[in-house]
Amino acid sequence: MRNQVNAWLDERVDEMAALLVRLIAVDSENPPGRALGQCARILRDAMENLGLGPEIIDIAAHQELEEPSIVRGGVGSGDRLLYFHGHFDVVPAQDRRQFTAVRRDGRIVGRGSADMKGGVVSMLYGAAAADALGLLGDGRIVLQLVCDEETGSVAGAGHLRAAGMIDPRAVAMLTAEPSGGSVWNAARGALSLHVNVRGREAHVGQADRGVNAFRHLVHIARPVFDYAEEMAGRHTDFPMDPDDATGSMLVVGGRSGGGSNFNVVPGSAFFTVDGRYNPEEDLDGELKRLTGIIEQAAAEVGADAAIEVTQRQPAAGTAATHPAASALGRVIAEVEGRPARFEMCAGILETRWYDQLGIPAFGYGPGRLDVSHGPSEYVDEAAMRRCAAVYALYANEMLS
Ligand SMILES: [Zn+2]
Repeated sequence: MRNQVNAWLDERVDEMAALLVRLIAVDSENPPGRALGQCARILRDAMENLGLGPEIIDIAAHQELEEPSIVRGGVGSGDRLLYFHGHFDVVPAQDRRQFTAVRRDGRIVGRGSADMKGGVVSMLYGAAAADALGLLGDGRIVLQLVCDEETGSVAGAGHLRAAGMIDPRAVAMLTAEPSGGSVWNAARGALSLHVNVRGREAHVGQADRGVNAFRHLVHIARPVFDYAEEMAGRHTDFPMDPDDATGSMLVVGGRSGGGSNFNVVPGSAFFTVDGRYNPEEDLDGELKRLTGIIEQAAAEVGADAAIEVTQRQPAAGTAATHPAASALGRVIAEVEGRPARFEMCAGILETRWYDQLGIPAFGYGPGRLDVSHGPSEYVDEAAMRRCAAVYALYANEMLS
């Protein structure tokens, strides 16, 4: 069966490359979320040609997203359901030339090749191969491609969930994020705060009449740094890339500022807190604790501090021993000729939208994480085909 899948894909090497080159040429940078409609239409046409029955679902305006939409399609008609999930926005380029893809030495170089337009091409061809070779058994694959993953996927994946387009009975979900050969069976949760401190302005000549918001901010931020240090020391039990830190990670003051001029007592000041929490942590409990720390510090100096929660996304984790994980491991071992490696992703993943509904969810894609988002982003063409083969054979494992 693997040989059949490989043969089917090998006949379409140039076709896959040409599609990826076309997708890279659309500068779907997010932020701000440019040209999303144009990218969606290329995907729809490609899916039409592959018999993947696509439709474009327009979604509500969100921030600056241009023509926000979801491209949805699928193959098969059986009961058992497997999701292939992807995104077609990319992070902003370092150089405009990244939108002219270069195909050389078995690689395609360009913005989004690894994260994750290359992975999306693998998913399309994996699903089409599974259909053409009769691997779908009593099941179907549904493809859902969203437009705003790089800014949190609240519009795209949020719409899927709100509209009931994620069926909790699904047997599994795969997303083609650049996992570099590993399987990401877990990902961190995210908690982000904006803390605003108010004081009273006064000119430097009458500084004693003011209330210095920055001074209050300094007092409030100190215990937040202590908290960040404590969280960094709480390690996850999920295996991770040896180069990644295993504690929950926080950035305090990623954005900060305030005041109106150097010679005026600042009447306002702000700082942000952005945390990536291990799946073992209780996100609501940590939010309460963090809020408590800020409120207590503010009370100590009589500061007027307001906390806004700007992001709250739960972690995700499917045990590597789950049958859906074992099946994926078997298929990867067969295609790659080496045992599959299960690891936790250091950031957040869209697996969470499915995981929250009890669906086993995994990140596995052809790109490498260390080149994603960088100036020389590329994807290996052979890796794209191997990944497509994994997707097709996984459908066979899970659906028949
Ligand atoms: Zn991505």
